[in-house]
Amino acid sequence: MAFKKEFKKTTLQIMHKSGLTRLLAGTGTNNFLTVLNYHRVDYPENRPWLDPSLISATPEQFEAQMRLLRQKYSPIGIEALLDTLINEKTLPRRAVLITVDDGYRDFQETIFPITSKYGIQPILFVPTAYPAGKEFWWDKLYWAVENQDKDEIETPYEKFNLATPAQREKTLRELRTKIKRGDFRKGMSLVDALYATSKPKVKSDTADTLDWDELNTLARKGVIIAAHTHHHPLLTRIPFEEACDEIHQSLEIIKKEIAETSPIFAFPDGQPAFFSPELISFLKKEKIIFAVTTVDENASLTLENALFFPRIGVYRKLSLAAFEYRLTPFYTRK
Ligand SMILES: [Zn+2]
Repeated sequence: MAFKKEFKKTTLQIMHKSGLTRLLAGTGTNNFLTVLNYHRVDYPENRPWLDPSLISATPEQFEAQMRLLRQKYSPIGIEALLDTLINEKTLPRRAVLITVDDGYRDFQETIFPITSKYGIQPILFVPTAYPAGKEFWWDKLYWAVENQDKDEIETPYEKFNLATPAQREKTLRELRTKIKRGDFRKGMSLVDALYATSKPKVKSDTADTLDWDELNTLARKGVIIAAHTHHHPLLTRIPFEEACDEIHQSLEIIKKEIAETSPIFAFPDGQPAFFSPELISFLKKEKIIFAVTTVDENASLTLENALFFPRIGVYRKLSLAAFEYRLTPFYTRK
C-alpha cells in the first residue's frame, strides 16, 4: 500500500516535471473545462477557531498553483464562460476557472492579491446571510467539539468521545456526516446546543466573513460575486419551497448589494445528495445560466450540463504535481 502510494507520487512528479501532465490536459474534447473549488487559503494557526479542513491551500501552495495556471494553462473568467454558453464561442484549450466558496476574510487578504498578480479572475460564491458576520455551522461544530470541558458528549444519535485529538477528529467526522444525512434544522439545533456548552470562543475582533462593503470593493476590482443561497442549507434536507426561497432570496440580495451581477450559482456542499432535477429546473426559471456542484470531475461544458457542472476540490495535502493531474481528462477520484 505504502509502495503503491509512493509509486503514484513519483509518477505524478515525473509527469509534472517533464510536461507530460500538461500534454494530457490538452487532449480534452471541445470546451473541456476544469472548475477548481477553493474555500480558504490560510495557515491553520492564523485562525485556529475555524475548521482547518476547509483550508484548500497555504498561501505558498496557492501562489504556485496560480503561477502554473498562468504559465501553462488558460485561466478563464466569466466572459469566456458566458460567451461559450450564450454565443457558442469555444473555450481555449486547457481552460480553468477558479471558484472560491463562502466569502471568508482570507479571500481579500490572500486569494485576491495572488489571483490579481497573475491576471486571473476568480468567482466568489457568497451565502448572503453571512456578510453580516454570521458563523458557519461547520466552524461552530469544530469549535464545540474541540472546546468542551468533558471527555464525552451526549447527542440524539449517540455518545461521542472527546478525550484525545484522534477521538475528537473522529467525533467531528461522524457528527458532520450524521448532520448532513438528517433533517437540516434538527442538525442545526444540535450544533447550537453543543456550541452553547463549549468554552467561549477566543478570536480576533474582525469577522471571519467579508461584509458587503468589502465584497463591493472586490467586485469593482473585477471579482465576480455570485449567489450560494441565503443561509447555506443543504437544499435537499429542507422542504422544496424553502429551498427555492433560499435560492431566490440570495439572487435578490446579490442584485441589491452588488452593482454588477452574473447569472451563476453554487449549490451548498454540492454533492449529488444535495441537488436535484427539480432544483435545477428552478435555477432555469430564475434565469441562471451556469451552476456548479462539487462532483469531483472535469468535463466539456455544454448547455446540458451547465446547471450542474462539476468542480474539482483543492486540498492542502495536494502536491503541485497532483494538483496539475486534476486538470487532465484522465483524473478520476479513485
Ligand atoms: Zn459553501
